[in-house]
Amino acid sequence: MTSISYLWAPPEPASVAVQGSEQRLPVQRLFFVGRNYLAHAKEMGRPVDAQRDRPFYFTKSPSALLASGASVPYPQATSNYHYEMELVVALRSGGADIAAEAAHEHIYGYGCGLDMTRRDLQFAARDQGKPWDTAKDCENSAVISAIVPMPGQVIERGRIELRVDGEQRQDSDLSDMIWGVRELIADLSRMYHLRAGDLIYTGTPEGVGPVRAGQRVDGSIQGVGSISLRLLGGQA
Ligand code: MN
Repeated sequence: MTSISYLWAPPEPASVAVQGSEQRLPVQRLFFVGRNYLAHAKEMGRPVDAQRDRPFYFTKSPSALLASGASVPYPQATSNYHYEMELVVALRSGGADIAAEAAHEHIYGYGCGLDMTRRDLQFAARDQGKPWDTAKDCENSAVISAIVPMPGQVIERGRIELRVDGEQRQDSDLSDMIWGVRELIADLSRMYHLRAGDLIYTGTPEGVGPVRAGQRVDGSIQGVGSISLRLLGGQA
């Protein structure tokens, strides 16, 4: 057996806590669904026609993961850092061209997620037809709670809400998702060979907005749990 020698210590594998377990879930990739709630698509100025349109996706690096409960600095290169509260699906297995009816077999569990976004960079990129990477895939921007094991279960409804410093900003229901958990797994598997450890952030409802240095974000999803994030520093 040969052992690999590295120039410097390789990064720790990305992983997420699992509720009620000492074992952590090893993370493969982070997929994000854009515009999956009608009212949010509208507030972004990009309404969705649920009959004609298809879901679309972007990704973040696993190194962007941040555990719920953390306090982190306000990020670089933005003055309009937004919260987006989302249901996250964690896969225990995968494949390509998965049928919607079989999608539940691949579900390990669910978590609460925050898709933190440099909105000013996103709008600038969008208006110029440029990619979203610098707006979306920045350090600490994929906040995640412990994953709750619910193997084989499909969640179709439940309150999803978020507060900033205790004030309600998002309050919706998972049943308002345009494309549900089954459809998203099936659709995404037409573009990627999905794998165990892939996380899918399923999109945010309406009410997105900025969070400033010194502020705290708290969110919850009925039947799943809660999530929090604090941005360090300065006056709000
Ligand atoms: Mn999002």
